[in-house]
Amino acid sequence: MRDIQTELDDLCSTLASYPDCGRVTSAIPELARVDPKKFAIAVADLNGQTWSAGNAEEPFSIQSISKVFLLALSLGRLGDQLWERVGREPSGSAFNSIVQLEHEGGVPRNPFINAGALVVTDIVLGRREPREAIGEILQFVRAVSEDDSIFVDDNVANSEARFSHRNASLAHFLAAHGNLTNSVERVIGTYVHQCAIAMSCRQLARSGLFLAHGGVNPASGSQILSAKRARRINALMMTCGHYDGSGDFAFRVGLPGKSGIGGGILAIVPGKASLCVWSPGLNQQGNSQLGTLALERLAHAAGWNVFGS
Ligand code: GLU
Repeated sequence: MRDIQTELDDLCSTLASYPDCGRVTSAIPELARVDPKKFAIAVADLNGQTWSAGNAEEPFSIQSISKVFLLALSLGRLGDQLWERVGREPSGSAFNSIVQLEHEGGVPRNPFINAGALVVTDIVLGRREPREAIGEILQFVRAVSEDDSIFVDDNVANSEARFSHRNASLAHFLAAHGNLTNSVERVIGTYVHQCAIAMSCRQLARSGLFLAHGGVNPASGSQILSAKRARRINALMMTCGHYDGSGDFAFRVGLPGKSGIGGGILAIVPGKASLCVWSPGLNQQGNSQLGTLALERLAHAAGWNVFGS
């Protein structure tokens, strides 16, 4: 391919004039106001180099991308016992489906749909105050990104909290099946705050490097989690990271990825790099429309695909 910077600049200018950029989420009022024309993309490699184009320094709401960090933390806390409380199969359903949870007796299909993330939040929360758990999650994200300026956007958290009826319903279903140890209020409070972490594309690209590097943060050399767990998180990102659009993302991009309704996508190129794109307009499945297209083009140009180049 041409050099990475030229590729990113080109994607940025081509996609800026793209006719259909999807629809910004209306589920969280504070996010509904984000300009759909924002676009950023960043690449971080294992040698510490980063490339970016567009609004790559501008923090946006990472939303469900946080579920990757939450999963890493909860595996550290509970180990493989986690899999007694949450499955690891693609859901094929919307990210906030209630029907599936009821049908499957209160054990969510995977940690990346909302029901699964609520269980994982409950695990990370443990017996602590929500404030302490949110602090630990933020610390983790800062450590893997090597950036202490990362923060939780309380306006977004409060905005989501006011409209959490659906997630609260999921949490009540989980509680009814004995799959929550904390109260619904505490779990939802912790959940909306960790979803409201704000990060830029550059920060997010750097934050994924430990997953591209066998669980080791290449910048600090510290082992964040075992190589086996890093592989497994990548596998779950590939099969479940885009909800009922996961098959399409694997088909088009061929990399483990996790989307958020803020319009961000984190994608991992194992052994090579970590990528992040942000474009707030979403497709039918709630994944960034132009973000997916940008990653499809970049991965194709660079020959980055876990199924072969
Ligand atoms: N906070 C959002 C929710 O729970 C996250 C959804 C997403 O990013 O896909 O609905």
